Amino acid sequence: MRRLPSVLIVEDESAIAELISVNLRHSGFRPIWASDGTSAQSEIDAALPDVILLDWMLPGESGLVLAKRWRSHPRSKLVPIIMLTARGDEIDRVAGLDAGADDYIAKPFSTKELVARIRAVLRRRAPEHDMAVVTIGQLSIDASTFRVSYQEQPIKLGPTEYKLLHYLMTHDERVHSRSQLLDQVWGDHVFIEERTVDVHVKRLRESLGEGAAAMLETVRGAGYRLTAKVQATQRSTLPA
Ligand code: CA
Repeated sequence: MRRLPSVLIVEDESAIAELISVNLRHSGFRPIWASDGTSAQSEIDAALPDVILLDWMLPGESGLVLAKRWRSHPRSKLVPIIMLTARGDEIDRVAGLDAGADDYIAKPFSTKELVARIRAVLRRRAPEHDMAVVTIGQLSIDASTFRVSYQEQPIKLGPTEYKLLHYLMTHDERVHSRSQLLDQVWGDHVFIEERTVDVHVKRLRESLGEGAAAMLETVRGAGYRLTAKVQATQRSTLPA
């Protein structure tokens, strides 16, 4: 089993922590919740997380104090810290970054943006691992070796199909329109017909084979989606 990157959420409001946890779990992270600095410290002592999401306003020691301490301690100094706070002004932002936070996100934030920021700090800290492998269901893609596999069996893809699959897997469970895919996969400076996307999706499905191809859904009138939750109706339309 691939080790999922762990994210220590230091947040005293359980509703916010729960919302973040659900979203992180869904995006392939292992969330750990600590409601204050003391329990966060025990979690860090027990196992170093890959990322710390740190709320500013906490009972007991503030996020700012904790960030400074973790940043100066040899054990935790390389762990990326993203500060979460309801305070949005420039002074606090500077204070947070001065304390050693790698990034800063103001409440209310979109969980989608939060996940993107976590991925970004992980990429900056460890470009060679952690985020290189993305696994959805039984489909895996490794950006460091350009290898794709389904049920442990290697799959060969052309360069465009690889890029398309990589984008869909790193942005799974969402519907992408053809024009969005053109922008994201082909680049927004080229002019290509939207039908091109369909051609490459067809090729990608052929290369993936039946089981994995079912994960790449066509959403009528909207576009495409890569999902681990393959619709039963789609499955039943596949030849036995
Ligand atoms: Ca708080």
